[in-house]
Amino acid sequence: GARVSISGLVKTYQTRDDVDVLALDNIDLTIERGSFVAVVGPSGCGKSTLLSLVAGLVEASDGRIEIDDQHIVNRPHPKIGVVFQSDLLLYWRTVLDNILLPIEIKHLDVKRHIPKAEELLRQVGLKGFGNKYPSELSGGMRQRVAICRALIQEPGLLLMDEPFGALDALTREQMIMDLQEMWTRLGNTVLFITHGIDEAVFLADRVLVMSPRPGRIALDLTIDMPRPRR
Ligand code: ADP
Ligand code: ADP
Repeated sequence: GARVSISGLVKTYQTRDDVDVLALDNIDLTIERGSFVAVVGPSGCGKSTLLSLVAGLVEASDGRIEIDDQHIVNRPHPKIGVVFQSDLLLYWRTVLDNILLPIEIKHLDVKRHIPKAEELLRQVGLKGFGNKYPSELSGGMRQRVAICRALIQEPGLLLMDEPFGALDALTREQMIMDLQEMWTRLGNTVLFITHGIDEAVFLADRVLVMSPRPGRIALDLTIDMPRPRR
């Protein structure tokens, strides 16, 4: 997995009525290779902003973000996979073609990545579903496909913004149980936003609690539980 080093990160949003919103106030954070970090906190505390900045989707107002010593502020990094609350699958493409989309966009060899895509499908329990269309799958299955798409490029860093947030409680629980073992095996560094403190503690080795107005890391907890180590 990748190492993430954030220092002095500030994000101010300019709103239409000329009021500045300080969403992130001087965040310092180092995420070690292969660690699984969960971010929790009330709505508006800056979780999504933090993740969007690390993903290079939103411009920082100040500060540095380094991924494996590469300064990435305001520039998307090639080795990041992202999963959002909604699966964002293209309904007119098959499951397999959805997973291969990042490969296609980068003009890499799509054919050569098919076995990898099929292996990922197997790992998330969707062996043989490659030729189905998203509309033929349940919400939980579609989110598993979205995770495969994020992993196809073997990203050093996997970013997830409430990936199970739209799922019903039973499906969510099943997903978490199934995926825990997968994360352990993959060894990607993971930054994971959730509203569920229970899933944060269950999945992560470290939990950051953020507080709003302005967005800060209020608590940085190491979860010390017997669990498979990466
Ligand atoms: P979540 O709690 O899931 O992050 P939010 O409701 O905070 O969801 O944000 C959802 C989307 O709306 C995000 O893309 C965020 O950037 C945007 N957003 C949040 N607050 C504002 C705001 N005050 N003005 C404009 N866009 C906003
Ligand atoms: P969270 O993900 O923890 O809910 P966000 O990162 O979405 O928090 O939002 C942090 C703060 O920034 C909130 O006050 C939110 O209203 C504000 N915000 C987020 N996105 C925007 C935006 N696009 N424009 C203006 N304000 C925003």
